[in-house]
Amino acid sequence: MAAGAVFMASLDADKTVATTCPYCGVGCGIVVRPESEGGADIHGDETHPANRGRLCSKGAALGETLGTTDRLLAPRIAGRNADWDESIDLVARRFCEAIDSYGRESVALYLSGQLLTEDYYVANKLMNGYVGTANIDTNSRLCMASSVAGHRRAFGTDTVPGVYEDLEQADLVVLVGSNLAWCHPVLFQRLAGAKQARPALRVVSIDPRRTATSDLADVNLRLAPGSDIALFGGLLCAVAEADAIDTEYVGSHVSGLADTLAAASSMTLNSVAEATGLSTDTLAGFYENWVKTERVVTVYSQGVNQAVNGTDTVNAIINCHLATGRIGRPGMGPFSVTGQPNAMGGREVGGLSTMLTCHLELENAVHRQAVQDFWASPAIADRPGLKAVDLFDACAEGRIKALWIMCTNPVVSMPEADKVIAAIKACPFVIVSEIADDTDTSVLADVVLPATGWGEKSGTVTNSERCISRQRPFREPLGAARHDWKIISDVASAMGWSSAFNYESPAEIFREFAALSGVAASNGADFDISGLATITDAEYDALQPVHWPLSECRNGGRFFADGDFYTPDRKARMIAVNCKPPPSQTSPVYPLRLNTGRVRDHWHTMTRTAKSPRLSRHIAEPFAEIHPSDAKKYGIDEADLVTVENVSGSIVVRALITDSTPVGSIFVPIHWTNHWSGSARVDALVQGLVDPISGQPASKASAVRVSRLNACWFGFVVSRFELRPQTNYWARALLPNGCWQAEIADTCVPPDWAALTRELTGIQSDNVAHMEDLERGTARVAITDGGQISAVLFAARHPVEVARSYVVEAFANDASAFDILAGRPSQSDFDPGPIVCSCLNVGANLIRAKIDELHLTELNPTMAATGAGRVCGSCQPEIKKLLAEPLQKAKA
Ligand code: SF4
Repeated sequence: MAAGAVFMASLDADKTVATTCPYCGVGCGIVVRPESEGGADIHGDETHPANRGRLCSKGAALGETLGTTDRLLAPRIAGRNADWDESIDLVARRFCEAIDSYGRESVALYLSGQLLTEDYYVANKLMNGYVGTANIDTNSRLCMASSVAGHRRAFGTDTVPGVYEDLEQADLVVLVGSNLAWCHPVLFQRLAGAKQARPALRVVSIDPRRTATSDLADVNLRLAPGSDIALFGGLLCAVAEADAIDTEYVGSHVSGLADTLAAASSMTLNSVAEATGLSTDTLAGFYENWVKTERVVTVYSQGVNQAVNGTDTVNAIINCHLATGRIGRPGMGPFSVTGQPNAMGGREVGGLSTMLTCHLELENAVHRQAVQDFWASPAIADRPGLKAVDLFDACAEGRIKALWIMCTNPVVSMPEADKVIAAIKACPFVIVSEIADDTDTSVLADVVLPATGWGEKSGTVTNSERCISRQRPFREPLGAARHDWKIISDVASAMGWSSAFNYESPAEIFREFAALSGVAASNGADFDISGLATITDAEYDALQPVHWPLSECRNGGRFFADGDFYTPDRKARMIAVNCKPPPSQTSPVYPLRLNTGRVRDHWHTMTRTAKSPRLSRHIAEPFAEIHPSDAKKYGIDEADLVTVENVSGSIVVRALITDSTPVGSIFVPIHWTNHWSGSARVDALVQGLVDPISGQPASKASAVRVSRLNACWFGFVVSRFELRPQTNYWARALLPNGCWQAEIADTCVPPDWAALTRELTGIQSDNVAHMEDLERGTARVAITDGGQISAVLFAARHPVEVARSYVVEAFANDASAFDILAGRPSQSDFDPGPIVCSCLNVGANLIRAKIDELHLTELNPTMAATGAGRVCGSCQPEIKKLLAEPLQKAKA
């Protein structure tokens, strides 16, 4: 803990508060100093074991996301403001009516890996123990359900065996389907730091794409999409052929070896080469390296999980570690990293519809009885509930009569997202608990309930290495916002169960949960935090990050070094899997495979990160990465707008032509919503195919086609007023000082460019500077209002070629209309170029200029010369890419 930090809900601007980042599963500790204007000064917590003071660009910019605009401040019923009593009564009544009329399976909750453990626990207790249904699922189903299923099959329980230190202690780290540099940036920095300190640490990246992570890797295996399972089937064969099976460990602690080897036996070097597209030499080199390296960690995330065979691929990875006994010891083991800040907490409380609380099993009558006895509840769910995709299908079919969505935006994030809109509309009663006003989902709800957000909430989260950390409040709840655990408890009380839900504080909920984990452990579960069951409120406030298990006899550490697993025979199970990659969904009509994922500086559906101008400037509009040969085939030029479509939907995004994505695939980010772009909800195109074991959707394998959008003009607008374009294509982003920018395009030319600029910006001033070149088809407009340039528009027949960073800077600095409309710097000015370093606003052109001027070839001197990369370090892979440009040019 940083000096001077307090652990209580102090809202005193002179004090600092230690809390946890609300974004990814790394779970970094943060020290916050609240500012009197409502913002906050943010620093990494040097004492937190996950990050040791580091933060990535998203975490470092959290202070910019605390604004009150777009916050939901009061309950809303059918679009009108309401008070809490009326809202709670209505929700409780409609839930009770649905249960009375249609049964307990007619109601459902859809939650989020961003809820705190205490929120999650109360929701799960209400549904499993009081309503008596397991129809409670979470957006974590979309993220790592296949890892959960794989763990349970192999270990008998959902256990992550290792800790982050293993990545630093390993001699070989294999990253599978994981762009760690952008999706888990601080863990990536820890790995990069370890490799710098100990160059013998080798890193292999297995990914069809070249990503920011590739730069760190000694070897990049750009295999055919979906072929990971063949690669790991082949690895198991290579382990056996090299006589590297740890027969002693396997003999004592593992079952299923013979069947698993038999299932993988067809994975010869040649057949793996055929499946993956990698050469036999490359494969042999990787296999030899893996087999010979005792300390090996295999890290995997969405690239593995989000597939129709995600669970099998997880087990194919785990099989290799079990066969070699490389698990549970320092520097070795399979390691699933979670996407969300509390995906693990959700798993612990039973937030997935397939699990009972505390890693107990719904299918186990003894477990169910133990939980029901502990809760003294009137019921207990006795079978798995609906998984996310099935849940929304059930809504569409009229089987769900009341649905409560908390802290997530399924209209953007679920597969076949347009179908999800129809499903929500078909459900007779929908409640959304949200912090943001008018999300794509909440506009469809009958009741919208204002929840507290990060900085207001108090509770715990668990990160990817089983470390429980406190999220602490440092500001008052905005408006009438309430904590999620309180809202759920109020509804449960109104449904008649007040004595079981009369919680006064998150500490009280946590103690109950910790006590229940002791019951779970006595019934054979791995999850045990019973050592915290009696902590006082003050101890809860002061709770330091702590790894589970935490009981009288265990205190953190790794699992399974002793070879004791949670199966009936206490042995781990190797699982015989089909090592053939699943068939492609592509067809002559939809010939491209759609891969989806994250960008560096945005988070999920951007309700928070889009409030930060510096984060928005890194990548300001949605895009599709397209390989040059596919671009040529489909007549697409750089910066064209493209329609990406299939039977499920259609989006329009910017073309980014790059060989980073393989031939036959395109990559589109998941973040953009209807709030930020006209038509870029990529999950509308993701087909509803799921892994049959985990129910996790295959979000990286849908078939699509791509075509150039025949826009007849393109525009770039900067305004001091909010932009809400209605053009055929638009994508907007917030700039510093409340300014906005938007990329726009349309299929018919407006009769009057000045009138269009007024319409876009809402500025009515007649003080307009207007330049038009009819021959070249360009127009430039500046509107002055109150003596200040208030908006500028650049329009052209082709994608607008202006130096955007220069225009934005010139606009912000009140340059003359002449200078701004020039669209690029004069000789005495400098265009910083696209933003690379969000922390210090350093552009690519500046970094290139310094590389050129100082003949830089190394990262550290470049960071010293430009400042870029020195604060959070998230942009270091991009700086390295710029450093490689002169070399690539020379080669060309
Ligand atoms: Fe937050 Fe970044 Fe740390 Fe993830 S890596 S927890 S986003 S600061």
